[in-house]
Amino acid sequence: MRALIALGGNAMTGPDGSATVEAQRAAIDVAADRIAELVATGTDVVVTHGNGPQVGNLLVKNELTAHVVPMVPLDWCGAQTQGTLGYTLTSSLDAALTRRGIDRRAAGLVTRTVVDAADPDFLAPSKPVGRFLPEEEAQRFVAEGQLWQDRGEKGWRRVVPSPQPREIVDAPAVVTLVEAGYVVVAAGGGGIPVLRAADGSLSGVEAVIDKDLGAALLGAVVHADVLVIATDVDNAIIGYGTPQARPLGRVTASEMREIAAAGHFAAGSMGPKVEAALRFAESGGTSVITSLDRIRDAVTAVGAGSQDALVGTVVVPDPVPHPASDPPAHAVA
Ligand code: ADP
Ligand code: MG
Repeated sequence: MRALIALGGNAMTGPDGSATVEAQRAAIDVAADRIAELVATGTDVVVTHGNGPQVGNLLVKNELTAHVVPMVPLDWCGAQTQGTLGYTLTSSLDAALTRRGIDRRAAGLVTRTVVDAADPDFLAPSKPVGRFLPEEEAQRFVAEGQLWQDRGEKGWRRVVPSPQPREIVDAPAVVTLVEAGYVVVAAGGGGIPVLRAADGSLSGVEAVIDKDLGAALLGAVVHADVLVIATDVDNAIIGYGTPQARPLGRVTASEMREIAAAGHFAAGSMGPKVEAALRFAESGGTSVITSLDRIRDAVTAVGAGSQDALVGTVVVPDPVPHPASDPPAHAVA
């Protein structure tokens, strides 16, 4: 089995969303232990992670120190968070693997993701980033060419493009490391967004990539059997926040497309997870949305192929009709 684990915000920040060094380390230690528990079953594991709060903090530093040191672009912020989170995750993973007596080590890979210059999000950016500022302060950055929007009560917030991930440039290196036995941390924050020019050269771009959508693509290109989107709820929920709320178990990709189209999943949170789960299932794998604590059980259940003991919300590929081998029931003697 090969599993891609996508760690959400609660795997890297405190329960209150706190992003102090101590809170991040403590949360990452817990996540690393859950992953080591899975590695102990003999599963090959690739780990990816979000970076929203960390990039947000770097942007605040950018703003506050712009008169002293050069501002750095968003692709650099993404790269910096891959560095820090990769360092922290691989250190915690190595410790957790050693504690469990597992003869494998972790490796972190700076990972670039190609996006399309013609992506509609470059014309109409959709992703709010960083902190809220009063209008007067926001206007300073608007004057420098940034897009900021009035978000009502809380103030103004910067909005940046969040284009679709198209290609994980470093995927072959991920595969090589996995096949050499490493637990690989890659494509943090969905990958560093780059554009590919006609001559093949790559250049960074001011954008952020959705980490769950990046995970779905990475999972497909490293031929993972299962994608686990590890978040802070056990299941995706239908009728979330209503008296009819009901956790979703196993669904086919087409069933999930219909449920998603009916608007059950919030755009900024569960929506992209469901979309990622769908894309991965449509590429032929099995996706699970569940909580961090259930990573091992989720993968084990998928591996066992049992339909009853599944954990979390499991999106499976649509059944392929086999007209020759599956004759209609009335044809069976
Ligand atoms: P992460 O930080 O782990 O990537 P998010 O915080 O963005 O994840 O998304 C998880 C959150 O999505 C849950 O804690 C829940 O509050 C919210 N949510 C919105 N809609 C749903 C839904 N239909 N089912 C479950 N959770 C939902
Ligand atoms: Mg979150």
